[in-house]
Amino acid sequence: MSLLRFSDHSLRSQIALVFGTLVVGLAVLLSLGFGELLKLRIERDAGTALQVIAENAGKLLANGLQERSREAEVLAAAEAVWTKGLDSAEAHHMLARSQATHPHSAWIGVADAQGVVRAATGGLLVGQSVAERPWFKEGLQKLHVGDVHPAKLLEQLLAPPPSGEPYRFVDFAAPIRLGPTTIGVVAIHGSWEWTHEVMESLTPVRTDDKAVELFVFDRKGDLIYAPGGQTRALLEAGQRLPVEANNPVASDRAAGRAVVVRWLDGRSYLTATAPMQARNSTSDLGWRIVAREPVELAFAEAHRTVQLALAIGLGAALLASVLAWLAARRLSDDLYALADAASAVEADKPGTRIPQAHSSREVSKLSGALGRMTHRLLTAHEAMEEKVRLRTLELEAANRALDLQARTDALTGLLNRRGFETQMAFALALARRSGRPLSLITVDVDHFKRVNDTYGHETGDEVLRRLARTLEMRLRNSDVIARLGGEEFVVLLPDTDLLGAQAIAQALVEAMAEQHDPVVGRITVSAGVASMRGLQDNGLDILRRGDAALYEAKGQGRNRVCVEA
Ligand code: GH3
Ligand code: MG
Ligand code: MG
Repeated sequence: MSLLRFSDHSLRSQIALVFGTLVVGLAVLLSLGFGELLKLRIERDAGTALQVIAENAGKLLANGLQERSREAEVLAAAEAVWTKGLDSAEAHHMLARSQATHPHSAWIGVADAQGVVRAATGGLLVGQSVAERPWFKEGLQKLHVGDVHPAKLLEQLLAPPPSGEPYRFVDFAAPIRLGPTTIGVVAIHGSWEWTHEVMESLTPVRTDDKAVELFVFDRKGDLIYAPGGQTRALLEAGQRLPVEANNPVASDRAAGRAVVVRWLDGRSYLTATAPMQARNSTSDLGWRIVAREPVELAFAEAHRTVQLALAIGLGAALLASVLAWLAARRLSDDLYALADAASAVEADKPGTRIPQAHSSREVSKLSGALGRMTHRLLTAHEAMEEKVRLRTLELEAANRALDLQARTDALTGLLNRRGFETQMAFALALARRSGRPLSLITVDVDHFKRVNDTYGHETGDEVLRRLARTLEMRLRNSDVIARLGGEEFVVLLPDTDLLGAQAIAQALVEAMAEQHDPVVGRITVSAGVASMRGLQDNGLDILRRGDAALYEAKGQGRNRVCVEA
């Protein structure tokens, strides 16, 4: 395959190619640039949305913890009830009412100062010792909020939770004081199901292009909540708070921005982290709430936007290229038409005109100028041809005149020797063909030297001219008269035999002798007659025999006719 050079392509292809490449390049650059900008924006928005979800979850959890600890305080402060005994009917009633108000309080109970449970919702653990439980030890001193922990004593006693996750509790405990004496501890085991509810209420509905998940990690970075019952599996897999999520680059951390993090499952997620903002130091458990969304979903809109921008850009580029091609085609069509017309002019096609083009001002000007130039050239060409035709005619006439001159005797206007020879050959051929006779008469002025000598050369010429006129007058048009040189003439007589020629010669000699010139007086001539003898006879021989007969006439005394022997 031979590669065409750029300049071998038509103008419209070149323009469309250059324009198309430029526009496509520009469109790709612009759409990618705008696309990237949009993408950044969308990504930031997606990150912000995740961040907001994580922060809201943090606030809700903090509120819940605060509320629950307040509830423990309120219960502990009910002195009127406690003065009637830790296991009084009023105490039982108060605990039951509290649980009814707060369904996620899995167990509410009261232990005496020695750590023996005296009253509890559902009667669970009553009479058992909780002296070694951290919440009891802490709760004797002051309000206590205990971090989430697996159920130890209650696990077997309670119905399994709806989430299917193992039972875990957050403990709230407060001391019961009557005056200066601490008589016991009120405790609430908050069910972890509560966290599930908070988280699920905050998680956006899962759709094809949205899949946000919320996690909670404790102060040490251990997973304490994962959605969809995956807590146990993730814990076993060793999932901890992703380090990058907790330590994003300084600027992103300052802006509270989400970052892309690779999780333990090998997938990358847009991940936002927010601390649980505790309402007081007691309930500050240092939890961190993490919201994540698979990057491909989080950025799906951004990718779609870039693709759309690119598609629009390419579409616009294509359209622009087609428009450029169409515009270029108008121009190149005009140029082709001009070139075709110029070729037609070159090929000399009749009636060719350079068309007036209108696709652009330049082309219009060019075609106009070409048209005028061609018209001018054609006109000049025609004038030149006319001139040449005239010149040729003139030349031909001059040639004919020259030819005539070459065959004509200047003095008498009769044929000269050359003219005679042509006529002789012609007459001979005709005579041979027709079988008719051909004769000639040679004529010579008698004593012509004397005329010249006596009256001068001019007068001699005059005598020669007079002889020529006499010959012309007395002979037929078909006869050929020539002056062979000096004062010697010859007459060629077609269709005339020797006798006929002799008679004519005789008449000529007599006619000449009868003339009387006022200057030179009587001038006589002598004549010799010869005829063609058979088909083999030739012009030179006949003339020689005519000359011989003339010589004979001179010899016999001149002013007479002699016939060949
Ligand atoms: P003949 O009777 O024997 O013919 O005698 P002639 O004097 O006529 O013969 P010759 O041949 O001796 O002389 C011819 C003369 O004709 C010689 C020359 O001066 C003259 N002559 C030849 N050509 C011309 C011409 O063109 N004009 C004139 N005026 N004289 C010529
Ligand atoms: Mg003579
Ligand atoms: Mg002579």
